[in-house]
Amino acid sequence: MKNYYQKEIETASREEILAIQNEKIVKQVRYVYDNVAYYRNLMDEKGVKPEDIHGVDDIKKLPFLSKEDLRIAYPYGLLGTDLKNCVRIQSTSGTTGRRVVAFYTQKDIDMWEECCARAIVAAGGTNEDVVQVCYGYGLFTGGPGLNGGSHKVGCLTLPMSSGNTDRQIQFMMDLNATILCCTPSYAAFIGESLAERGYKPEDNKLKAGIFGAEPWTEEMRRSIEKSLGIKAYDIYGLTETSGPGVAFECEEQTGMHINEDHFYAEIIDPKTGEVLPDGSKGELVFTSLDKEGFPLLRYRTKDICILSRKKCSCGRTHVKMTKPMGRSDDMMIIRGVNVFPSQIEAVLLKEGYTPNYQIVVDRANNTDTFDVYVEFSPEQFSDRIADIQAREKDLNAAMRSMLGIGPKIHLVPPKSIARSEGKAVRVIDKRKLHDNV
Ligand code: ADP
Ligand code: ZN
Repeated sequence: MKNYYQKEIETASREEILAIQNEKIVKQVRYVYDNVAYYRNLMDEKGVKPEDIHGVDDIKKLPFLSKEDLRIAYPYGLLGTDLKNCVRIQSTSGTTGRRVVAFYTQKDIDMWEECCARAIVAAGGTNEDVVQVCYGYGLFTGGPGLNGGSHKVGCLTLPMSSGNTDRQIQFMMDLNATILCCTPSYAAFIGESLAERGYKPEDNKLKAGIFGAEPWTEEMRRSIEKSLGIKAYDIYGLTETSGPGVAFECEEQTGMHINEDHFYAEIIDPKTGEVLPDGSKGELVFTSLDKEGFPLLRYRTKDICILSRKKCSCGRTHVKMTKPMGRSDDMMIIRGVNVFPSQIEAVLLKEGYTPNYQIVVDRANNTDTFDVYVEFSPEQFSDRIADIQAREKDLNAAMRSMLGIGPKIHLVPPKSIARSEGKAVRVIDKRKLHDNV
């Protein structure tokens, strides 16, 4: 039997979903216009009034909000209600610059946690599960979001937070955790640490993992699934819209269902802002349809992905987004070629290396330099120069055929690249340092 947390809405017909969205957006635009002076000014500048919005088709008339707007309006400029009505503040991880703070009313928290609960149930979670949450707790949304979702499902929740891998493993084994929630890079590290301690994948009771907050490839998914003996599900979200749970994967694992009763998604051309038809690759833009504390309309996420409305075998009817291949910010332009870290990860894992790598980009004599440091696994390790050089050459060729440009490969001993307990830092772009001086 298929399980859903909120079956009626998760499997509603397209007409029903559209009717809900149309009703909500009219109210929400009026709410934002009346309460958020910053956005009212943007609408006035664009000559759009709340009465011009009759349904989601009219969303394209509204102005965009960008991360820059959030920084300008920091801290209270985009608040949708009195602070006395808010019960929580969370903040972005600051991956790409100054942190942004978001405000939540109790209703916002309930909605967010329900979205996370949908994700947990889609990953097979029930009240019989023990959910180990090792996303960070605190200002970062990962821990609190999954923690709340786990409570709503009635799971026994282990609020581990990130780090202290010895204790993670001890509690996982002693308390029979069945669902693991963390970043994919930390999941890979936990898998590696279990193996080092002599555990086989079948020794733990885990059945599923819910991993997100950073880009990860299909190759990485397979590697984690193998090392932990689980099915690994993707989850997506961002602080600006609430946190994790904006979209989540079902058992089909072909993209993440966006919780469309709360978030309206568009794909735009990041250069022109033009809305692109379903199936096009572009920047994901979200309009929250019913948030009170931090009600962003047309927020540009900078995440690059594709939307699909193909029927899903799980019975859920909400639109799906592909795994974001990275943010437009993550894309490196190296000697004129566009490179995403996720492409490098895919090649490494395909070629049998571990997901432990670091990319260093710099500039020397007016030319970009492009170096990738890759760890040997203990089995691959060799100290024969000829072996190392041959492997580096092969990897360079594999990268060149995928990217159109070949990095200098440096194979380094096992364990020499720092492991991540939260979001992994994959790229060090030193060119930016030079540009700033
Ligand atoms: P920051 O922007 O500082 O990292 P957040 O913690 O709010 O702040 O992170 C949200 C961002 O994390 C998203 O915009 C996206 O780039 C990334 N992200 C979240 N979940 C995923 C996922 N499942 N796959 C790829 N990227 C993700
Ligand atoms: Zn599905």
